[in-house]
Amino acid sequence: MALPKFSYLIPKSLKEACIMLAEHEDKARILAGGTDLLIKMKHRTVQPEYIIGISNIPNTDYVHSNHKHLTIGANASLTMVAQNPDIQRYFPALAYAAGVTATVQIRNMGTVVGNICNASPSADTATPLLVYDTKVVIMHPAGERTLALDEFFRGPGVTALESGEIVKELVLPLTSDRSGSNYQKVSPRSKVDIAAVGVSACLHVDEKETITQARLAIGAVAPVPKRVLHAEKTLEGKKLTEELINQAAEISLDEATPISDTRATASYRKKMVDVLVRRALNASMEQIRAK
Ligand SMILES: Cc1cc2nc3c(=O)[nH]c(=O)nc-3n(C[C@H](O)[C@H](O)[C@H](O)COP(=O)(O)OP(=O)(O)OC[C@H]3O[C@@H](n4cnc5c(N)ncnc54)[C@H](O)[C@@H]3O)c2cc1C
Repeated sequence: MALPKFSYLIPKSLKEACIMLAEHEDKARILAGGTDLLIKMKHRTVQPEYIIGISNIPNTDYVHSNHKHLTIGANASLTMVAQNPDIQRYFPALAYAAGVTATVQIRNMGTVVGNICNASPSADTATPLLVYDTKVVIMHPAGERTLALDEFFRGPGVTALESGEIVKELVLPLTSDRSGSNYQKVSPRSKVDIAAVGVSACLHVDEKETITQARLAIGAVAPVPKRVLHAEKTLEGKKLTEELINQAAEISLDEATPISDTRATASYRKKMVDVLVRRALNASMEQIRAK
């Protein structure tokens, strides 16, 4: 299937990309790895007149860390994120999710930021990034603003980005040694396919294993990937017992509003939320104990 005709614009900086985007508004789209956008264009789901290619802008394919934060640049590929030692150490759920997204070829081309901006409810890196309290740094022609990731997703394929805005980078506060996290995914065609359900958890505990901070997020079972705030509150201040896990799984089930599609029925998805929440919480605690 051939691509529709378009004009290809090559900005020299992300700032210039914002200016181009503001100038052409709805007629233009940003292209990073192109693994989502070009497919949609081939299917005529989107038909931009202008493509703004950002993949060759220098110094945008980074993963940086200091003693407080880790930062993922707009053009950091899924492979780069999966293989980065700091991400593997501090954000193992994200490293794992990036490493089981699609295939090697797609991971080498596709970016984590593109995965988020695509705003698919099933995006593999979305729930790990949610449980790590990720902030999205958004650039526009006049400057920058920062938004929590859970405010970024507005609906299937819809983000909080406004005219002329692009995502510059993602910022994750470093996790402590007394934390553990995990991503669970089921998909009908093993790891090659997008998730039918995805669940991430991140637990922080004190020296007595009381949970001081809990994060739990579900994907592919609602219009947007989302945190299960009520379950998080239920987990905090307690020890992770079987009964507490049951409660968190039950709350997550209530929060899930899945649809039936070619990948899974709604009832299968519901069942899997229950299973994956349990696995993600148990695996997070096991990781803490193994440190
Ligand atoms: C065969 C195949 C298998 C796949 N399997 C999976 C899977 O298992 N799991 C999964 O989650 N995804 C999967 N995908 C989807 C895709 O590969 C990922 O979502 C990928 O991370 C997209 O990144 P990209 O850089 O290619 O995005 P692009 O296609 O370049 O862009 C995606 C969207 O984000 C916008 N965008 C990109 N960067 C920015 C930015 N900096 N600022 C603002 N907007 C931006 C674009 O305008 C576009 O709307 C698959 C795709 C294919 C083709």
